[in-house]
Amino acid sequence: CRTSPLLPMTPKKPQQWLQVVGHAGSFHVGDYGTLLKRFCEGEQQCYLRLMEDTLRPFVPLYHGVVQHGEQDYNMMDNLLTHFNTPAIMDCKMGSRTYLEEELVTARERPQPRNDMYEKMVAVDPEAPTVQERAQQAVLKTRYMQWRETLSSTASLGFRIEGFRKANGECQTNFKRTKSREQVVEALDNFVESNTHIVVSVTVTVLHSLVDLFISKSGIFPFSGVVGSSLLFVHDWTGKTGVWMIDFGKTVSLPTHHTLDHRTPWAEGNREDGYLWGLDNLIDVLTDILPV
Ligand code: ATP
Ligand code: MG
Ligand code: MG
Repeated sequence: CRTSPLLPMTPKKPQQWLQVVGHAGSFHVGDYGTLLKRFCEGEQQCYLRLMEDTLRPFVPLYHGVVQHGEQDYNMMDNLLTHFNTPAIMDCKMGSRTYLEEELVTARERPQPRNDMYEKMVAVDPEAPTVQERAQQAVLKTRYMQWRETLSSTASLGFRIEGFRKANGECQTNFKRTKSREQVVEALDNFVESNTHIVVSVTVTVLHSLVDLFISKSGIFPFSGVVGSSLLFVHDWTGKTGVWMIDFGKTVSLPTHHTLDHRTPWAEGNREDGYLWGLDNLIDVLTDILPV
């Protein structure tokens, strides 16, 4: 069992934890207010670098690798520890949620996929082309790119993955929440009566995240940030927080390659739209603030 000496000053007994979305079975609640997430080396490398970066306050503190049963886990702070019956929302950031490498791999084996065709038709019977309909199949590359256009990922650079309200109500059906109006409605539903305090604190935090991300982080100009989320948490006391989580697909770029995270993606430029999405999210949140 390998742990770092960074453990927080939180009681040993396991704390409450609720998962909004993501792979079921990848997590265990640890002692001292920690959370164990199934080990992923890329995510470990990213957390290690983040612990030395100006963005450290925006991520759960990382405490190293531990073994649980036969499996290795990355140990980090459970962000819910100091909240009281919190509301939690996961927003996946960026204008695409797959790596360029995944697209290349999918293209190398261009097999028509009936399972993806079925998934496509189940969501939108009009989506397949005449040829795809004739084959009752789509290529994986086509499916991956189509899926991003369903939600606000491609149009706003972020999408709501799901939220859980303080009363236990859970909503994860946002695969087709695409327009600005739909996103506003969902965010309104999440913040409920706490609108002013929650949204104004959140907007302030997000502004400083943009600032640090661009001008002071020693990591993010040199990394592609794909499939990462912002986790929004608030409770009835008005306590509010936002953190960056999920760095399994955050990868260092080749030497001398940098991203501005706003330029539209064209295959090869590796842009991820993270900051463009953050700009849009701030804009939408600012709009729902009561005047
Ligand atoms: P994905 O399918 O997006 O790749 P994943 O399996 O990589 O998911 P995460 O996105 O890291 O998992 O986390 C899934 C969920 O677990 C989040 O939406 C959040 O509810 C919860 N979670 C993750 N990390 C933390 C944390 N440090 N503290 C509290 N809750 C967390
Ligand atoms: Mg995730
Ligand atoms: Mg992930």
